[in-house]
Amino acid sequence: MPELPEVEIMTRNARRWLSGQTLAALEVLDDALLPAASAAAVAGAHIGEARRRGKYLCLPLGTQTLILHFRMTGKVVLETEPRRHVRARIHTDAHTVAFVDTRRLGCAWLLPTSEVSAFFDAIPLGPEPWPMPRDGAWWAARLSGTRSAIKPALLRQDRIAGLGNIAVVEILHRAKLHPARTVPSLTASDFAAIAAAAPVFIAHVLAVESGPEIHYVNEGAAIPTPFLVYGRAGLACTCGSTIERTVQSGRATFSCPNCQRR
Ligand SMILES: [Zn+2]
Repeated sequence: MPELPEVEIMTRNARRWLSGQTLAALEVLDDALLPAASAAAVAGAHIGEARRRGKYLCLPLGTQTLILHFRMTGKVVLETEPRRHVRARIHTDAHTVAFVDTRRLGCAWLLPTSEVSAFFDAIPLGPEPWPMPRDGAWWAARLSGTRSAIKPALLRQDRIAGLGNIAVVEILHRAKLHPARTVPSLTASDFAAIAAAAPVFIAHVLAVESGPEIHYVNEGAAIPTPFLVYGRAGLACTCGSTIERTVQSGRATFSCPNCQRR
């Protein structure tokens, strides 16, 4: 499902396909997503620079901003042939970009650009962990006061924006930290390992998944995944040990008992 790296890829695609052009129409096929009347009002708007905030894609349309959240199965794709499960389309003279969402759990908002930062403050959404340099002290400070295990702590969007279940599983594996370790038990070098692992994981996913359409693991497609432990229970870790699956705060967790000692 879409997390920070996947939304980053879709944001870059949206920028390439749409930014700098004129919006011919914002076509809403699902009234539950956006009221069609407000979408009609932005026709003719200049499309500004698409940007990502956490797991949200923001697309300025004149004085308004369209914000998309993809939840489980949402994605933006270039519609070069008719697609199923389209909930909205962004038309320009050059392209039609579709918001495809099989399970219809994704969300959209169209609001004045001047209200976008207040929108994110109200969620509340914490600062971005990437692409700006973030050292171990930054990660430690963002989680200060948290007593829980490190994995659910890293999933808190009010502390750090954009990290989802897959990203946290993979970052902790690369940092050689067991997901059940508590935040107070982590040392400065543990946080430095998280700080080092996060951009490596994100860069890896960007390198492997970048393209016109991302296929999510929950779509059931038989595609190789870019992950080292996520979804690989019972398979061998790069060290040779067997990857374990546990459940933490109701979420599937994967780790290597050898690389990630408690
Ligand atoms: Zn291992």
